[in-house]
Amino acid sequence: MQALTNRVKQVDRKKLSFIESLYLPAIIKGMFITFSHIFKRKPTVRYPEKTRTFSPVFRGLHVLNRDEQGRENCTACGLCAVACPAEAITMEGAERKPGEEGLYREEKYAARYEINMLRCIFCGLCEEACPKDAIYLSETFAPANFQRKGFIYGKEDLLIPNPVTEPEAYAKAKGGRVAVK
Ligand code: SF4
Ligand code: SF4
Repeated sequence: MQALTNRVKQVDRKKLSFIESLYLPAIIKGMFITFSHIFKRKPTVRYPEKTRTFSPVFRGLHVLNRDEQGRENCTACGLCAVACPAEAITMEGAERKPGEEGLYREEKYAARYEINMLRCIFCGLCEEACPKDAIYLSETFAPANFQRKGFIYGKEDLLIPNPVTEPEAYAKAKGGRVAVK
């Protein structure tokens, strides 16, 4: 029969010797390889006791940003939801009322903002699309959960701590890669 490629290899079907038929040499060789790995450096990280250093371009859990006065940046324009290839973002906009100027930076804000982390592929397109510096992907990731609803992150889960009332938590959430404005 003619071969389609030149990678065809003839299998050696020679009869096994008595020692080979006991499979002992093969077992000893396999055990030797296994034991030799005991003394090598382990690439496994024992999470959660230890954590890996992430790449500077790592894209993790989303954070909804605030400005330096603690006001929410998001204006519920919907561009992030339109840009999202996984259709993971849902939001409902609302009008800012008189007296709420300290809470929301723009006249319109997201009364509801949800990201389905089971859909999200952490591509970062929502961050790219946002004209208000309102969403970015942080260096943390969504923790494991036994329930589907545990992966639907609401605004209260995503919103960054207030820089005025919780400056330390805010700086920690910002991390080193996003400049504090
Ligand atoms: S990171 Fe990508 S998939 Fe996830 S919410 Fe943003 S745009 Fe959608
Ligand atoms: S996060 Fe940005 S793009 Fe998305 S609705 Fe808010 S302002 Fe618009």
